[in-house]
Amino acid sequence: MLSTHAAGPRERRLVSLVVIFSLLLFAISVPYAKMPLPHIPAFVAVYDSALFVVYLVTAVLLYGHGVTLRSSAMFLLADGFLYASAMIAPHLLTYPDVFSAEGLLGANHQTTAWIFQFWHVGFPLCVIGYSLMMPKECSKGPGIRSIFGSAGQHVSCTLLLAVLSTLLAIHGTNVLPDIMKGTFGYTHRMFWIVSAIWILNGFALYVLWRKTPRAALDLWLIVTMVAWLLEVALVAVFNAGRYDLGFYVGRVHGLLAASMVLVALVIENGRLYAHLGRAHERVRLKASELERLNATDALTGIANRRVFGETLGREWHRSLRSGRPLSLLMLDVDHFKPYNDTHGHLGGDDCLRGVAQALASCTRRASDLVARYGGEEFAILLPDTGESDASAVAQSACRAVLSLGIPHGKSSAHDCVTISVGVATFVPPPAFVGKLAGQPSSLIDAADHALYDAKQQGRNRVVVQVQPVSYHTSGFTR
Ligand code: GH3
Ligand code: MG
Ligand code: MG
Repeated sequence: MLSTHAAGPRERRLVSLVVIFSLLLFAISVPYAKMPLPHIPAFVAVYDSALFVVYLVTAVLLYGHGVTLRSSAMFLLADGFLYASAMIAPHLLTYPDVFSAEGLLGANHQTTAWIFQFWHVGFPLCVIGYSLMMPKECSKGPGIRSIFGSAGQHVSCTLLLAVLSTLLAIHGTNVLPDIMKGTFGYTHRMFWIVSAIWILNGFALYVLWRKTPRAALDLWLIVTMVAWLLEVALVAVFNAGRYDLGFYVGRVHGLLAASMVLVALVIENGRLYAHLGRAHERVRLKASELERLNATDALTGIANRRVFGETLGREWHRSLRSGRPLSLLMLDVDHFKPYNDTHGHLGGDDCLRGVAQALASCTRRASDLVARYGGEEFAILLPDTGESDASAVAQSACRAVLSLGIPHGKSSAHDCVTISVGVATFVPPPAFVGKLAGQPSSLIDAADHALYDAKQQGRNRVVVQVQPVSYHTSGFTR
């Protein structure tokens, strides 16, 4: 996070560029700071509105950041931004010649200038508080409920303070010294007050600079404070009054100061989204890989028994709905035990892999499923396939395995590895079409019986079940 990780080289380069730009702009404009320029009150309205939005959005994001981190120091920094935005509103309303000649809210010619001073005192105080508090905070502050309460308190106190300082700026004419000479010029007191504010801002910069560890957010705050110092210097120290060159150029620094943290937060947001996207993609790939592994037999790479069971249940119901036949082939390697004994378990494994590939090559439709049922037994499920077509697939499976030509000296059926196949077909009777009936396991039983017969009849052959697959309306399982 912005407030927890150190700035990367790209961020540091960007920050350096902004600082160099600010200093150059300042150096160029200082000699001409007192040069009078046209009075454009609309400029103040546009500038203050932009600043108001930027400060407010930054404050909201920082409060959110504070809630995530459960950090009161982060709230304090957010308070600084909220206070600035809350002071900009009366600053604009009371500004002479913007909404009325004297400014609204009962303002006099001192009001706006004092609001500006308060705003430029409140913000650095919050930055100083943040810089001193942040390193002392333990990793996890209060619980999530109390952190929302704490955020609420920070917001209310800040807004209250903004209201009180505005009231003081409007009604405290007796207490506050005059800093404006007429509507546009500054008195000599302005110089001293602004110098004090400048020193306070400089101190905030110093405290930030000394803060360890220095997070990326601190680096952006340092730029903020540099731009802020240059703004105060131009608009209140080196210039002569409102609407001169210092007044206008100072606003560029002001806008820079206001937007730096927001820019950093937006960059951080983009970084986090990219990170999240990559992490999500990794999880998705892992999940699909897990799903694939979960559905695959580790030895042969074809579907495992779990997938076979699920598919059989699904196809059974589909067959009941459509009235179309469903066929099942149970296939078993002949005399595999002696093969294993002769070639060893690893040799047996190689043979099973070869048989699996041969069986997989016998099916054509996407809905057909070849699975390892267990040990050296395989199953082929053929939806929407009648008895004669299923028998043809079984014959081609026998031929495919035989054509592998794996020598088997201990087989009574052939001198190469062969399989026996039992075929069973379920044809839903018309009375049961569209209803839930029977048990898928009855199809397995029937195919198993046929396989047993094939073994009895000498192996390396296909036997089709003679009895129709039994089905029961009771004991139905999904
Ligand atoms: P039949 O023709 O009657 O089927 O005789 P068979 O020897 O094939 O029958 P049996 O079921 O007695 O033997 C199956 C053998 O398959 C026993 C076991 O060692 C072997 N087997 C089961 N699973 C694996 C496996 O994953 N790898 C290997 N290499 N052998 C296996
Ligand atoms: Mg066998
Ligand atoms: Mg067996």
